[in-house]
Amino acid sequence: MNKLEGLTASDGSAVGPLFIREQSSYETSSKQVTLGEVPQEIRHYQRALEAYEHELEQLLVKLKGTASEIIKSQSLILQDEQIKAEIINCIRTNVVSASYAIDQIYELYIGRLRDSASNLFRQRIIDLITIKDRLVKLAAAYSEHARSDHQEGISPELPVSVDATPQIKGCIVVARDLSPTEVVQLSESKAVGIILEKGGLTAHAAIVAQSLNIPCLVQIGSQIHDIPSGKIGIIDGEEGVLLVDPSPEIIRQYNTTISDAQAAKKKIKPSRLPAVTKDGVRVQIHANIEFIQELPMASSYRAEGIGLVRTEGLLYGGLTHKSEKEQDVYYRRLLDDCTGPVVIRLFDVGGDKLYGFTTEESNPFLGWRGIRMLLDEKEMLHSQLRSILKCTHDYPGRIRILVPMVTNIEEIHLLKKELSVVQSELAKEGFSPVQDVPLGIMVEVPAVAVMADKFAKEVDFFSIGTNDLTQYTLAVDRTNDQVGRLFEHDHPAIWKLVQQIQLAAHKAGIGVSVCGELASTLLGASGLIGLGIRNLSMKPSAILSIKKWIQSYSVSEFQLFGSKIVQAQDREQVHQLFSTIFHRV
Ligand code: PEP
Ligand code: MG
Repeated sequence: MNKLEGLTASDGSAVGPLFIREQSSYETSSKQVTLGEVPQEIRHYQRALEAYEHELEQLLVKLKGTASEIIKSQSLILQDEQIKAEIINCIRTNVVSASYAIDQIYELYIGRLRDSASNLFRQRIIDLITIKDRLVKLAAAYSEHARSDHQEGISPELPVSVDATPQIKGCIVVARDLSPTEVVQLSESKAVGIILEKGGLTAHAAIVAQSLNIPCLVQIGSQIHDIPSGKIGIIDGEEGVLLVDPSPEIIRQYNTTISDAQAAKKKIKPSRLPAVTKDGVRVQIHANIEFIQELPMASSYRAEGIGLVRTEGLLYGGLTHKSEKEQDVYYRRLLDDCTGPVVIRLFDVGGDKLYGFTTEESNPFLGWRGIRMLLDEKEMLHSQLRSILKCTHDYPGRIRILVPMVTNIEEIHLLKKELSVVQSELAKEGFSPVQDVPLGIMVEVPAVAVMADKFAKEVDFFSIGTNDLTQYTLAVDRTNDQVGRLFEHDHPAIWKLVQQIQLAAHKAGIGVSVCGELASTLLGASGLIGLGIRNLSMKPSAILSIKKWIQSYSVSEFQLFGSKIVQAQDREQVHQLFSTIFHRV
């Protein structure tokens, strides 16, 4: 038996034959056409667009939440007027086939994303490749069909069926990378698990796998080439490993664990009870969301508020921020569809192409990001602040504003200035925005953590972003697979900083919560509660297990753990302490 290590991107275990999925690549049909064929090639492109759009619509019916947003954003790319015009122009001016023009223009965009300093955009390359491959295939098939039939028009029916999915029912599919659409197709074909060579935890394929409840491991690396097709594999999501060719005994054990877990899942009813420790200490559990579609899960698990709204989704798709009116609709819908406080984070992007301009940065994570960019891009900042502030009157006491990537106190002063400019602008226009909307900062840069006492005097609350705090404290790029294993958000250095931040917030009498991934793990939540944090915000899917965990222990046990982890010398010790103190579920 062989054991390959990866990272668990979607929880759970699976057993099944390994199916190696080759990266699809399509031949573009012959490049040059005659002048007379140009109008027909344009029609082939348009038909390919319609056919693909139809396929995506069908997928949308099957998906919910974030996964459906991803498909919608693919649809947006497909319908992008600029790309469409460039493809048609390429067919016309270069007198080439539709499939060739599609390939060329999409490659251009893919190249730009590849050069992009922004990880967010680089991760979208796979979306563009999927769209390109599918469009090329469809357009080539239309051209082929027209040529062979010597007929002007062809049936509006698809000339090729949706990629015939091979016999993968019950298989664990192994691939270099997959698009969200492919993950949906695999789920439709009843694949039981997914292994990816690369991919990050935030890759779209991983998000869709989570949404469809398919166990998925990413970052298996070059070991992927040694995986034999047809042999039995086991994904162990808890350990983050793939077992290749295990013994019948091990297969039997995993099959039992999987059916037990499925039976237990059916029994779990969303707990209406709040997260209270055995000795009565209450912990607020909030949800992190990006898309409105995530709200139903958050509320069915009784999240008491939304602790982090990542608004970058508003920038994504068209690569430009949504108009103020569109933002109005988004924030109002968000507030209508949930209860409790809603912490809206200002756009946390930068470092790259946004609505038309480009910046080259060799260290984008240390660059023009978050508040740094917003203070330069006033139009963008104002439109977001206007939209948020306009809601405050109708949703009294519920909205809080969160500022990302703060490093200096001056940034807070400058932002407050912009806030008051927008407030008086709105008042002049007849709106009555609330004047004292709570303003908080992400504590994700170590400088802010070590000077938390000073920052606490300037804001109403802290939200600790352990993802970036880890990246900057341990000097580990959170998106770099090469150093992925060094990304230890439960490292003693992080616990020490959390302790310092919590104490500063407590002393200043301001709120403090944690919205990084650390809060959604059992070990993380235990340490955070132990260090005095009483508000955790996490992905909706983690809420149930964290609540149950908190209800199973008393605060003194969490405190014991908290007092030890700040003294630990490395992450291993932290994990040992965890298993010693928390031995019962
Ligand atoms: C964080 O940095 O911990 C965080 C919650 O923000 P994001 O992951 O969006 O950077
Ligand atoms: Mg962050």
